Amino acid sequence: NIGKTGNELGFNMFVVGGFVRDLLLSRQIDDIDIVVEGDGIEFAKTYAKKEGCRINTYKKFGTAVIIYPDNFKIDVASARLEYYKTPAALPIVEKSSIKLDLARRDFTINTLAISLNPDNFGTMIDYFGANRDLKDKTIRTIHNLSFVEDPTRIFRAIKFSNRFGFKIGKVTSNLIKNAITIDCFKNLSGLRVLSELKQIFEEENPIPAIKTMESYGLEKVLHKDLTLIPNTYQLLESVNKILSWHDLLYMDEPYPRWAVYFMAMLNRCSYKVCEQICTRLNVPLRERGILLEKRYKAEKQLNLIESSSTYTKQELYWTLINFKTEYILYMMALVKDEEIKKAISNFYTHQRGIKPYIKGRDLLKLGLKPGPVFSAIIKQVLNAKLDGQLKTRKEEIQFAA
Ligand code: ATP
Repeated sequence: NIGKTGNELGFNMFVVGGFVRDLLLSRQIDDIDIVVEGDGIEFAKTYAKKEGCRINTYKKFGTAVIIYPDNFKIDVASARLEYYKTPAALPIVEKSSIKLDLARRDFTINTLAISLNPDNFGTMIDYFGANRDLKDKTIRTIHNLSFVEDPTRIFRAIKFSNRFGFKIGKVTSNLIKNAITIDCFKNLSGLRVLSELKQIFEEENPIPAIKTMESYGLEKVLHKDLTLIPNTYQLLESVNKILSWHDLLYMDEPYPRWAVYFMAMLNRCSYKVCEQICTRLNVPLRERGILLEKRYKAEKQLNLIESSSTYTKQELYWTLINFKTEYILYMMALVKDEEIKKAISNFYTHQRGIKPYIKGRDLLKLGLKPGPVFSAIIKQVLNAKLDGQLKTRKEEIQFAA
């Protein structure tokens, strides 16, 4: 129906980029990107009306998102030409053809398009050798100034190479080295680097990508004093194991996966260097809190736990309950003592879910007056529960009385 609506409006319609790439690689498809040779917003409006969808439009960019009743989304863009007045600045955007739209993309493997109009439905368009590079398992840029134009593509090249197990082509690899030598990151916004880094850290196993980044000296882009030592890699490996364990058990419990890897990468840096890295990357305040204050708090707590021989189950509970998933996982990766690791794991898998049956109204019924005594009693009930002393609601009420 997309192609049919396009035809009625006189527009050529294509599905492009990651969708086609992932289709050919038989990988799971997450996004559908449509490019319209014509007015993408007009198309989205007409299509949404016919199909009973909602839309969000972005006039400035000529783009829209079509949202189906079941929340499934399709991104629509008007074919556009982007050019850069100065290196690493944001591009100027103009309307154009599918060929020019594809030519502005980062790598050949992302330049495939499939026609959706009924006359040539399913015809694949490959202007830049994408099929060859998919077969050769190679990441290649479309032109030689690609990384100078937009240095974030360096991180993207590494991300795709790691994700698909592709090599970075020789010329492309040299272009990366040249771009780094001429300090192309100088004018680049920190937030854009941060966004690409996060995407790398969100991959299933980012460690090979981190090694590739280091082989190009990219850690120095974050900070001249950032060095990844064997201990850092050991910790990253340990994070990887813990996150795989966690994600298998708690698939739909969301947490910032990227942050756990980032915390591990910063583990050996001084506070000052971490602060400067956050400033360079324009890390938003809340996320700065994760990487700096909260991370230090988690490390300090873990030290206290590890250096005390008398930490009880209850004490561990009341300490860990203040930390969100990302810090608990980070602590599990950091901890050296296997017994403590087990105890933290037990906290995460069992204890944190333990809640007392009794509520404030049960205490009222016992004739108690509301106040601090309520939370003190509830805390004691919980401690006894953690100890396995209380099983039923009745036992809890008796205990409270
Ligand atoms: P992912 O599976 O990681 O989402 P994707 O290929 O869908 O990969 P997006 O980041 O969603 O990537 O970008 C969509 C398309 O936009 C890509 O196929 C790519 O061609 C293009 N693109 C994204 N970022 C850049 C960039 N910095 N320079 C050029 N093209 C880019």
